[in-house]
Amino acid sequence: MSGKTITSSKCKACSRVIVPPRETCPYCGKNAGPMEKIELPNRGVVQSYTTLQMPPEGFKAPLSMALVELEHGALILCLASEHAGTPINIGNQVEIEVDSEDRFCYRAIT
Ligand SMILES: [Zn+2]
Repeated sequence: MSGKTITSSKCKACSRVIVPPRETCPYCGKNAGPMEKIELPNRGVVQSYTTLQMPPEGFKAPLSMALVELEHGALILCLASEHAGTPINIGNQVEIEVDSEDRFCYRAIT
């Protein structure tokens, strides 16, 4: 997968943008009708982050994760990529990529 855009869904009723894309808006439910598929730039701003010293099985410790806000206020939870670069802080710009297991990963923009 290329890392240039992030596929998301936009609700026609409440205008919220959801990543990853869904059939139904989690806020409005089925009555809002099908969601519109839109592509977002793969850049966002760190809203919060955490580091797990004892991550779930299959992940290396310490595991860093960040909640990143994309365009239209879409929020995604990302893992630190192998090339995450410098430690991040709230407000930092990051680039989002999708790894070989379809997980979102962030990387500091330098
Ligand atoms: Zn909605």
